[in-house]
Amino acid sequence: MFSLTAPTFMPAEGRAPHVASWYAASAGDIPAYPALKGHVRADVAVVGGGYTGLSAALSLAKAGYKVVVIEANKIGWGASGRNGGQVHPGQRQDPDWLASRIGEGPTRDLMRLADEARGHLDRLITENAIDCDFRPGLIHTVHKPREVEAERRHVDHLRRKWGIEKEFLDRDETAKRIGTDVYHAASFDPAGGKLHPLKLALGLARAAVAAGATLYEDSRVTLIRHGAKPIVVTALGEAMVDTVIMAGNGYLGGLDAETDARVLPINNFVVATEPLDEVLIPGEEAVSDSRFVVYYWHQTPDRRLVFGGGETYSHDFPADIAAFVRPHLARVYPKLAGVSISHAWGGTLGITFNRMPFIRRPKPNVFVAAGYSGQGVMLAPFVGHVVAEAVAGTMGRFDVFAKVPVTPFPGGPMLRWPTLVAAMTWFKLLDSL
Ligand SMILES: Cc1cc2nc3c(=O)[nH]c(=O)nc-3n(C[C@H](O)[C@H](O)[C@H](O)COP(=O)(O)OP(=O)(O)OC[C@H]3O[C@@H](n4cnc5c(N)ncnc54)[C@H](O)[C@@H]3O)c2cc1C
Repeated sequence: MFSLTAPTFMPAEGRAPHVASWYAASAGDIPAYPALKGHVRADVAVVGGGYTGLSAALSLAKAGYKVVVIEANKIGWGASGRNGGQVHPGQRQDPDWLASRIGEGPTRDLMRLADEARGHLDRLITENAIDCDFRPGLIHTVHKPREVEAERRHVDHLRRKWGIEKEFLDRDETAKRIGTDVYHAASFDPAGGKLHPLKLALGLARAAVAAGATLYEDSRVTLIRHGAKPIVVTALGEAMVDTVIMAGNGYLGGLDAETDARVLPINNFVVATEPLDEVLIPGEEAVSDSRFVVYYWHQTPDRRLVFGGGETYSHDFPADIAAFVRPHLARVYPKLAGVSISHAWGGTLGITFNRMPFIRRPKPNVFVAAGYSGQGVMLAPFVGHVVAEAVAGTMGRFDVFAKVPVTPFPGGPMLRWPTLVAAMTWFKLLDSL
């Protein structure tokens, strides 16, 4: 779903404050957790304090496990604290696409899990009283005239074949709902939505601590000594545990070769404007478009436009992210070409070759979950919970995910990035035609 730049890795010292996003500015008090120092003993160590790791920790702590979350930077510092906040129901791939690759039965299992993931997100927010500005509804806009009839047919097909309810919106209705007439049609998904991503991460952290989990920040895991009792090593300490969950997603790089081969870190960029005079999206839905390199946006309760889009193929973030994203925003809202941008930031997510998450148990006491490919707001908290179930010995839902084939990127560690860039350049070209 996302535009790409080459990965930027964690800072050399292995820690960083929250990125200067609108989310960090509007999240309220952000608690600090101590660094891991000395030797600790626990049942489970979770590497990474994003949605996957925090949700796994919450479920494990509630089930009575002694669990530690070890985060290199700040809790919610990764993609979970800085994403587009869009709740995309379903799997990352269309059910027809999945059925043609893995068969209809496994596809139906995956779609059932996607429904469960959507319900799980609602329950997490409600049961833990997480005030993360959730608003329902997702509008998917069509940016090429020739896609309009296909979208209309697809909405109908999804209902008949897969029981997925969406509503087709014609051009006038689309313009009314999103405050711009540059799109040719859209579909509305009532099960989608948007939220404040960092507030969700911080709320999960609070709930995990309340359930008994211990969180460590500024504690980058540099080594895992595998064995019957794995030891998770940081600069100042180590945790000896029974089980390790690797939940570092696009930032994990270097800890596990099998994951590195399959989960590619890519960068994506977002801006927030100053509060606008105008309400652009009266229904408060999240909006994304049909470009291969997707634009995605929503309006905040204080009427800022939070807009993600644009791509470069360099090894760093653009020096001026606001200037970089602005032309993309202006393509969607020409009247906002000169709008004042208050915040601009980038982040790293993990994608896989077929865009399906990489969820595995590489050793009996090691689990990995990563590569949601731009769909982690809904999926990652659920997958964290499913991994926790697996740690406790209930494998059913974990196995459905783990059976989905995820091949390594072609070219190995050295060539996979140039290969991807070539492919993405081609798709970007198609977008512009
Ligand atoms: C700009 C952007 C926009 C996005 N927009 C959307 C969207 O609108 N909708 C959607 O569904 N998804 C979106 N995503 C993707 C979504 O944010 C992710 O799929 C999701 O947050 C993944 O959660 P996670 O917990 O697996 O990983 P993360 O949130 O990235 O957390 C991983 C954490 O692990 C830590 N870590 C890594 N290695 C180590 C180590 N060795 N030791 C200790 N800690 C380590 C990192 O510091 C990081 O905090 C977006 C991502 C980005 C970057």
